[in-house]
Amino acid sequence: VKAQGKNGVRASGEALVEESARRSRLARDLPGAIARGELRMVYQPVAGAEERRVLGVEALVRWDHPELGPVPPEEFIGLAEDDGLIVPLQRWVLATATAEHARLVAGGRDLKLGVNISVRHLQARCLVEDVTRALEGSGLPAHLLMVEVTESVLMDDDERLLAELAELSALGCVVSLDDFGKGYSSLAYLARLPVQVLKMDRGFVSGIDTDPRVAALVGSVVDLGRTLGMDVVAEGVETRAQLEVLTALGCRFLQGWHIGRPVPAADLPARVDGFDPA
Ligand code: C2E
Ligand code: CA
Ligand code: CA
Ligand code: CA
Repeated sequence: VKAQGKNGVRASGEALVEESARRSRLARDLPGAIARGELRMVYQPVAGAEERRVLGVEALVRWDHPELGPVPPEEFIGLAEDDGLIVPLQRWVLATATAEHARLVAGGRDLKLGVNISVRHLQARCLVEDVTRALEGSGLPAHLLMVEVTESVLMDDDERLLAELAELSALGCVVSLDDFGKGYSSLAYLARLPVQVLKMDRGFVSGIDTDPRVAALVGSVVDLGRTLGMDVVAEGVETRAQLEVLTALGCRFLQGWHIGRPVPAADLPARVDGFDPA
């Protein structure tokens, strides 16, 4: 037991050292990653529960590190935010995703594109400009772009951030509140936010088919969305049972592995046109 304890301590010490070595490695390599072409986008479908078809996709960034392999966004978005790289990274994401999406809808498909935005980009005061440039560069109509911001915009009580979001709506873009319910959402703030879509965190969805209280809670989020005139998207729909409960509760938009995994742009036409949520 003693030896195990010692090993445990040593193992966790080593793990910490390894973790911080990995972090500094990633921080060192990230600035050149865009130029070296190591970033790419994948797209996850969002389906309409009633329509039973794909209504949009969410763009998710991937980093294929030449030695470390695929690095999840949760590991490098934060680094980019700390190192002042988030704006250039986000510009690349906006330009790439709008260009790939413009090609996807060129044949007449009616699909929205969701792009995740860091609150740091809003704070940098160039988001509206960068979105405008991406729309002009790609030819994508503004109403097809949905900008996803997280609840952290609520933490920053700078009115100008909300004004910037309102400016995006005025351009014709859709603004959504991501990970709703995960953290700090204040109902009082929610009514003031210039957002049209609530993306309900997948923490809500995971217990929906086993715990009636969770189902009741999700039902009230759906009602809340209706009251505020916002569409509600359920994230993290992994099973058919969850899809059925969500549909019964009146949740109209569904996203998650059961609907479809994120795929490269080239695979989307087959996914979208041949969609079958069985
Ligand atoms: P998010 O915006 O909440 O994106 C949804 C995440 O949930 C994605 O993880 C997606 O792959 C994962 N997911 C989708 N369906 C399911 C499911 O049924 N079950 C489970 N367990 N997971 C599911 P991913 O791609 O690793 O992205 C993680 C986060 O990184 C995103 O969370 C978003 O906050 C951030 N992110 C991704 N791409 C970008 C980007 O281009 N810019 C910025 N600023 N952030 C990004
Ligand atoms: Ca998102
Ligand atoms: Ca501005
Ligand atoms: Ca989310």
